[in-house]
Amino acid sequence: VWENCLSFIQDNINPQAYKTWFLPIKPVKLTDTALSIQVPSRFFYEWLEEHYIKLLKTALTRELGEGAKLIYAIKVENKLKGMEPFTEKIPSSNRAIKSSQSVDAPVKSKSPELKNPFIIPGIRNVKIESQLNPTYNFDSFLEGDSNRLARSAGMAVANKPGGTSFNPLLIFGGVGLGKTHLAHAIGVGIKENYPDKTVLYISSEKFTQQYIESVRKNTRNDFIHFYQIVDVLIVDDIQLFAGKASTQDAFFHIFNHLHQNGRQVILTSDKKPVDMQDIEQRLLSRFKWGLSAELNQPDFETRVSIIKNKLYRDGVEMEEKIVNYVAENIKSNIRELEGAIISLIAHSSFNRKEIDLDLAKKIVENYVKNTKKEISIEQIQKTVSDYFSMDVETLQSKTRKRHIVQARQLAMYFSKQMTKASLASIGSQIGKRDHATVLHACKTVNNLASTDKQFNKYVEDIREKLMG
Ligand code: ADP
Ligand code: MG
Repeated sequence: VWENCLSFIQDNINPQAYKTWFLPIKPVKLTDTALSIQVPSRFFYEWLEEHYIKLLKTALTRELGEGAKLIYAIKVENKLKGMEPFTEKIPSSNRAIKSSQSVDAPVKSKSPELKNPFIIPGIRNVKIESQLNPTYNFDSFLEGDSNRLARSAGMAVANKPGGTSFNPLLIFGGVGLGKTHLAHAIGVGIKENYPDKTVLYISSEKFTQQYIESVRKNTRNDFIHFYQIVDVLIVDDIQLFAGKASTQDAFFHIFNHLHQNGRQVILTSDKKPVDMQDIEQRLLSRFKWGLSAELNQPDFETRVSIIKNKLYRDGVEMEEKIVNYVAENIKSNIRELEGAIISLIAHSSFNRKEIDLDLAKKIVENYVKNTKKEISIEQIQKTVSDYFSMDVETLQSKTRKRHIVQARQLAMYFSKQMTKASLASIGSQIGKRDHATVLHACKTVNNLASTDKQFNKYVEDIREKLMG
């Protein structure tokens, strides 16, 4: 019977739609007056009801006569069970939701509630595991100026997923500033507030892998449907979608479906939407529908409290001056801040000795060195002369005008600090001076920086520019 229906349907719609919406249907049961079909998802069911009910009705009436009934069984797809975010749980009474209604009385509403859900043996239900890390919660996500907006937006979303204007919520910020942690915290918060909601966390990388796999296995539709049935979708590091047009396309469909149905979407990225390259415009414009909240570099106090919190959780004590030393020197990445602390603890327990400032210096140096960019004397001269709005030639010239001399000395000082070049080599590159001139410059800068406030500001500004 179903075969006949199919061939009738096939003759009446375009091949693509036939393939997408009718081939995945499985006939499960036939009586004199009713045909039960199994569809892959609720979304699928809604789509059929909305677009193809007439066609289905005609096809079925031809086969079974007037008054024929069509019964849907919705299967939470388990074909994908090899894929990551699934942990299959087959409850003792295998169950699926089922709805039953006459094709003569199709449901009018756009997203009909399924009526008479009951249990059909033999169809498995798949429970979606959220993939959340419970230790990444709001309590462990310390608040500071750098994250206040993002954190409170996240809390608002956790209290009312899908019910705020923060949909999607896009969290962006540099590496190691807490995007993943905050994204999990929102998911964990939602699970606490609404245990029945399905929350799914996925990294963009894994999403892409799964997508490619689904294309290979010819289960692309199942892939998309799977993501469309969650209440809350969290996708981490979406900048990694860059240049992956077909993954973006799949995500676009998922996003639209979720958004239209008032489900919450949370995204993270290491770039602002405007700076994301190779991401389709239609996606970028959708990201702007909600809220973009930035995670900035934490200030000194926040860094100190993050360290103290970590020590407290690990049950370790550390002298205040060492905590301050680490917080002062590792500024731009909380992961590294924590890494340095872990490394310190490991060193001291391994060697059975106190954590002292010497050890702290050594360890911090490793972290800072690794993140330092290679910088050339040329770049330094360019940055310094730009800062004082002069040409590099002026900076190198023989003139003794005070502000030019100062600029030249600063260039020498930074060259000594930030490159491995010798005094002599620095001298020869900055206007053909000798090594004694460079040494004198370094001393002068050090002296002035500690006595002259304005001059110290120059030093700090330029350092910041050089570190970029
Ligand atoms: P990102 O995803 O932005 O690269 P992560 O979320 O992985 O950064 O954070 C790096 C580390 O810093 C994690 O161990 C995280 O727990 C910690 N961290 C980040 N922000 C905070 C914060 N506000 N309070 C406490 N720990 C934080
Ligand atoms: Mg991350």
